[in-house]
Formats: sequence, structure tokens, C-alpha cells
Amino acid sequence: MTNTGLSTPEAALDETSEHADRLRRAQAEARRTGVDALLVSPGADLGYLTGYDAPPLERLTCLVLPADGDPRLVVPALEEPAAMASPVAGLGLEVVSWQETEDPYALTVSLLPSGATAVAVDDRMWAVKALALAAAAPHVRQQAAGPVLRELRMRKTPAEVAALREAGAAIDRVHDRMGEWLRPGRTEREVAADIAAGIVAEGHARADFGVVASGPNAASPHAEPSDRTVEPGDVVVVDIGGTTFAGYCSDSTRTYVAGGEPPADFAAYYAVLLEAQHAQCEHVRPGVTAESVDAVGRGIIVAAGYGDRFVHRTGHGIGRETHEEPYVVAGNTLELEPGMAFSVEPGIYLPGRHGARIEDIVAVTDSGGERLNQTSRELRVLDA
Ligand code: ZN
Ligand code: ZN
Ligand code: ZN
Repeated sequence: MTNTGLSTPEAALDETSEHADRLRRAQAEARRTGVDALLVSPGADLGYLTGYDAPPLERLTCLVLPADGDPRLVVPALEEPAAMASPVAGLGLEVVSWQETEDPYALTVSLLPSGATAVAVDDRMWAVKALALAAAAPHVRQQAAGPVLRELRMRKTPAEVAALREAGAAIDRVHDRMGEWLRPGRTEREVAADIAAGIVAEGHARADFGVVASGPNAASPHAEPSDRTVEPGDVVVVDIGGTTFAGYCSDSTRTYVAGGEPPADFAAYYAVLLEAQHAQCEHVRPGVTAESVDAVGRGIIVAAGYGDRFVHRTGHGIGRETHEEPYVVAGNTLELEPGMAFSVEPGIYLPGRHGARIEDIVAVTDSGGERLNQTSRELRVLDA
């Protein structure tokens, strides 16, 4: 199956009203936290707020979003056509362009509310840009915008959850094709290259990552594909994701056995992992804490004697970035709310031997959790 047309452009999100609403909510959050303006350069935050996926160039592009008043977008003159071809045009956002010989930092600072004393810059703004803005406005205190914007970004609208559901279905189709690519005699790198093409063919704009960790490499949670040749009976952890045309990310892990019998002790701990991941997904509902989702699965894995083999947190939020708030980790007492979406990805790793991980994205609904990945989680033994 090739691109099914399921990946609709950002327009499907009813972009104008969504983005206008996000800008208003960001302004309210800025007021609540006492910053006079948000300064947002190209990246996930700018895309979230305006729908403009601006390229991360050395020339300054920056949204100036005052706590009160009209937002403006500072862009290099040569980027103005691209900005106006984006949802920015429909938003009625004033675009202020600068010529090559102008100082964009002085221009940006001139657009701050008069008497501004505190601004929040997006977490990913390049240091050279944040420092130049600080130099252009020495009396304005800078802080990170992450704590302001995460309050918005981690509470997905129904349109965003739908976009994540579509991303989940797209990556599920890639896992369903794994038997075409993952076979003994091929290297991890060869398999990973085919998977990356499959991620695009099945409805993503791009492949973001692809872990193909076979045999002893499966014991390393973030193993990079290597030149190791997959052997019959190898356990293979495949953790893959991409970004759809709507700008939302997929991320799903399945553990396979490549053509043959798995190691003798593998089935026992895979069953523990399956039970833990299922219990965690069932536990998700509004009002429970993020850390309790981790604890539910960790308790099962500890009780089975593999506690010291589950070496990472349970999961991470996902949206326009693969890793964002909320993090599913001990110590995060955040209470889950409808619209939050995150991975549930416990793993058990036996160093030097093999390992397993199962990962689904789960969205919090009004009464529970919805898994956005639906492919089978039973151990899949692929034909040789
Ligand atoms: Zn990870
Ligand atoms: Zn993953
Ligand atoms: Zn993940």
C-alpha cells in the first residue's frame, strides 16, 4: 500500500480557528505567568502557534506575541513569500519584514510592548539569537518559554488527537509490513533503510528515527542500526517514527523474532513485559498522575524479578515533537487530563544477550485512555 491520502495537510485542522485560539491562549498564559511577550523562533512552538513551519536559518524569523495586543511576525524579506504561503496569511498576522542590511534584533525589540521588562524566548531558540536579543534589550529579562507553552501544547485539542491517531495508523502500517524487510542475513542498516522508505510510503512527510536492534544490540534501548547481520532466531527491537504532513509525530516499538526460535528464556520475560504494558495502558484515565502510570508497570516488572532491567522511564509526551511534555516518570505528579498524549514503552534489557520493548502512544480520553497504535503486541515471529 502506498500513500493513501490519509495524511491531510494542516488545513484539515481547521487551521485558522485553531491557531487563532492557540495564540489567544498563549497570551493568557503569558499574562498569568507575568511575561510581557513571547519571542518564538522557527521550530515546533512556532508551528504550533501559527502553522508556519519556518526553516531554521541564521537570519532571524521571530514571532513577537505580546501578553496584550496584536502579534507580529518578523521575517527576512526573502522569506516573506514562504511565510505568506503558510497559514500565517489566513490568521491576519502582521508580517514585518527586514532587508539584508537591517538589524532584525533592534527591529524585534522595537515591537515589544513599551515598558516591557520580561520576555520568554522559545526553548529551542539558537543561543546566538537569544544573546543578540538580550544585547538589543539590556533591561529586559529573558526566561524560557517552555513552561508557558507546555501548558498549551500538552493539552491536545480533538483535532490534534485526530492528527496523532492518523500518525499512529501510519506507523502501524509500517510495522505490519515488517516481514518484507526484517529477515536473517540482512544487516540492521539495510533493514532500517527499507523501514525509512516504508515510513514515507505509508503516509509520513519524513522518517525521524529507526531503531533496528538485533541480538545483543536489543539490550541497548537507543541502539543505532549497525552493520550487524540479523541471525536466525534473533530477537529484534524495532522502534520507529516519523512526522506526518499535518506536522504530528508517530513513535511505536514492536519486538520481533527473525526467522527461528527465540532464546530459551525470552518468552518468560516478554510475557511479563506484555502484562506490564497492558496494565499501564489500562491504568490511564483523567485524574491519575503521570508517575502512577510508570509505577503500575514497574511494579509488575519488579515483582517478576526484572526491576533492575527496566532502565528507563515509561514514556514521553508526543505531538509536534517526538519527545515533549508530559513525561511518564517517577516524580512527575502531574494529573492526567483529557487530550494529553504520551508513549507507554516499558522495556526489559539483558545486557550482552537480548532485550524487548513494547511502545504505544496513548491519548487520555474523558473516561480512560485510547491507544493510538493498534498492531498486535504479541511476540511476532517473522518467517525466514
Ligand atoms: Zn526513546
Ligand atoms: Zn519509540
Ligand atoms: Zn517513544
